[in-house]
Amino acid sequence: MRIKSFENFEPFNILRKKMGAKELGSFELFDPQRQITYSERELLEMGLFEVKSARLRILKDKTIAFKNARLWLTWPGHEDFHLAACEKVQKRRHLKASFIAGLNSINDKNVCLDCLQLLKFDGLDARRSRRLDLAETMQKEFKLSEFQKDYPFYPLL
Ligand SMILES: [Zn+2]
Repeated sequence: MRIKSFENFEPFNILRKKMGAKELGSFELFDPQRQITYSERELLEMGLFEVKSARLRILKDKTIAFKNARLWLTWPGHEDFHLAACEKVQKRRHLKASFIAGLNSINDKNVCLDCLQLLKFDGLDARRSRRLDLAETMQKEFKLSEFQKDYPFYPLL
């Protein structure tokens, strides 16, 4: 089947001018296999998105992504949230267990220091994190919004 070019279809051209669109523009098709859907995003923003480990990707920088969103992970009854593929996250992935994921900061959980160490975030490495006082301060002062400046969560390009 041949599809007629709409460029020469006058009613569309009039409509286009009314909309103030000068260019024909290009359209990106939404791909639900690769892009998070509206409802997934809603749950992720509430920090209530349940995701199976098989659906997660570990990015080259060791952070975790689902489709085109970087995210944090936790699970029921666990007091930390994770930002990278630390040992605890990997263990749970090997068990093929599911995770709870989100995009925004959470108040009732602490950031996992192993994850920050893995990413060497803010200069945290194994030697420094052995100093408990320093590690605890980092945990207390950690701001997800600051982390997201280095590791933007959504959308991933
Ligand atoms: Zn972790």
